[in-house]
Amino acid sequence: MKAVRFHMPKVMKVDNVPDPGIEDARDIILKVTSTAICGSDLHIYNGKIPQIENLIVGHEFMGEVVETGKAITNLKKGDRVVVPFPISCGQCFFCQHDLYPHCENSNEKHYGPEGALLDQKGAALFGYTNLYGGYAGGQAEYVRVPFADVGPRKVPDMLTDEQALFLTDIFPTGYIAVDWANLKGGETVVVFGCGPVGIMAQKSAWLKGAGRVIGVDIQPYRLKKAQESANSEVINAAEQDVIQLVRDMTQGRGADVCIDAVGMEADRTILEKALNTIRLQAGTTNVLENCFSAVRRGGVVSVVGVYGSYYDKFPLGQFFDKGLIMRAGQAPVQAYIDTLLKLVEDGKVVLDDIITHKLPLSEAPHAYKIFNNKEDDCVKVVLKP
Ligand code: NAD
Ligand code: ZN
Ligand code: ZN
Repeated sequence: MKAVRFHMPKVMKVDNVPDPGIEDARDIILKVTSTAICGSDLHIYNGKIPQIENLIVGHEFMGEVVETGKAITNLKKGDRVVVPFPISCGQCFFCQHDLYPHCENSNEKHYGPEGALLDQKGAALFGYTNLYGGYAGGQAEYVRVPFADVGPRKVPDMLTDEQALFLTDIFPTGYIAVDWANLKGGETVVVFGCGPVGIMAQKSAWLKGAGRVIGVDIQPYRLKKAQESANSEVINAAEQDVIQLVRDMTQGRGADVCIDAVGMEADRTILEKALNTIRLQAGTTNVLENCFSAVRRGGVVSVVGVYGSYYDKFPLGQFFDKGLIMRAGQAPVQAYIDTLLKLVEDGKVVLDDIITHKLPLSEAPHAYKIFNNKEDDCVKVVLKP
């Protein structure tokens, strides 16, 4: 089959590889019908999360069941399903507590309690480096889905692939960032990042009762997309003083909630890049620091943008003085997907309006380039195997 493999930083290739097969009674094999490129894939692409061997990438995918393991009774050949990106057993302590990205049973070689730089990570994720389990991902014609009695959800016929695909990752991720803040209604929510995840967080903020939703980015075309598809007010952080503006908009207090949907690959100067390299830091915490400044005292900072190493200068004193609440992490998609699928089915939210490019899988290398470089007004790419 054809599959997109990471070879080295900036080099993704469409390779011929062996078809996957059933390895465990709880597996299914999926014929992938649609798959997307995520901002998280860019961390591998840019070498921010290390990977040595060639690996089939992709954790946002859906498709048709073509084979089922002996223990699978919830699905049959021909079913059309969407698959959460964490690989989780459904039975361990963490799965039982809805903490699916911390499953103890999927990342055999590199799981552990520490969460260290190069070891003791969380659950395995599809197509997300050997540190995260080394499983083949879904940017491929076929993919093996372990624990298929836990993750995959059937997609109703009334929904197109494009309408359902983002239930794998970015909609649950944006939604949980807001859910962590326990909105009561009427709050001001500022979302840093108007990429796919940031826009999904903005849509989710309205769903959860926010009174005001403000999207921040440095790319004018992405700010425009956030205005159009999430009906947000927007701030261009490349041209405006975000922190001062947010305070001006909130009687000097700051926003009730700030969401970091950018992560470690925020824009930074060459000098900062050099300093970060000397400090052995993967990327920067610039956006997280902006969140701490723009949020009000006693407010909530939700971090869904990915950070991959230890970071000097973490503003703990400010965090303490302002009495902030912060939550971070990978989204426990399995815990949210049914609720969110219902919202899509009921037409309460539209997800596919962020898609700017639909391309054949064979054009994946080009797709990675334009998505990474923010070329051709690219916001979200869907690949068709
Ligand atoms: P993306 O790269 O398309 O979006 C990031 C956006 O941040 C871009 O639009 C970029 O212009 C903007 N940006 C850069 N510097 C900025 C700054 N200083 N201020 C404001 N905006 C700035 O990626 P995405 O797909 O939207 O993903 C966003 C982040 O979320 C990534 O770090 C990704 O790995 C992470 N993610 C996390 C989870 C999770 O479960 N926690 C799931 C999916 C993605
Ligand atoms: Zn993702
Ligand atoms: Zn588990």
